[in-house]
Amino acid sequence: MTERKALVAGNWKMNGRLDEGSALARAIAERAREADACDLLVCPPATLLVPIGKALAGSGVALGGQDCHAAPSGAFTGSISAEMLRDAGCSHVIVGHSERRHGCGESDADVLAKAQAAWRAGLVAIVCVGETRAERERGTAIAVVTGQLAGSVPDGAAADNLVVAYEPVWAIGTGLTPTIADIAEMHAAIRRHIPAGTRILYGGSVNPKNAAEILALPEVDGALVGGASLKAEDFWAIAQAAR
Ligand code: PEP
Repeated sequence: MTERKALVAGNWKMNGRLDEGSALARAIAERAREADACDLLVCPPATLLVPIGKALAGSGVALGGQDCHAAPSGAFTGSISAEMLRDAGCSHVIVGHSERRHGCGESDADVLAKAQAAWRAGLVAIVCVGETRAERERGTAIAVVTGQLAGSVPDGAAADNLVVAYEPVWAIGTGLTPTIADIAEMHAAIRRHIPAGTRILYGGSVNPKNAAEILALPEVDGALVGGASLKAEDFWAIAQAAR
């Protein structure tokens, strides 16, 4: 069986200015230098990538972008390419977050093109998938998520270029989580559709209280953390639960 090291990734979203972001990154880096941890990744806003990369230097904590454009460069005002993320020190990029799929109308095809762009730039693509509340209530959650995987993971996926994040839309930022049985069922379903050894993260209201139970599931290889990644002690507690 392929060994899958846990990964805990913090998605800071549109939060953090230079002072507070740097302080948060330094606090995470300090803990990571002092103690063994799972793989750790921080995804700050694009404005902070370079200073946060400096604050994390030598700590083993990786740097990631929250999104990228599919093109390498060009007339796309306000967008950032995967190559630019790489240039800023990133090793990973999140694509297809529900705040992009549902908030910005991105389709599976858009997400697929962004994942291809990530690979073109040498980044690991963290492809997010997840059902809405209505889809779960209709009993179509697994069909929706496996359909998203089929539409947004490009050919050529492998354990070293892809991470899948299962994030139920209704669990993000709400304090709600699926039952442990539902998370286990969904991760097992996802596992059947991706290359062996690929990590599957759970995301959606993970916090220091619920992390241990979720992360103990055999098919859960870590967490994508939003709100709780903005406090070093909470992020670290989740990382410790993932070890
Ligand atoms: C996220 O935005 O990816 C996320 C999981 O957010 P939260 O942890 O705040 O639910």
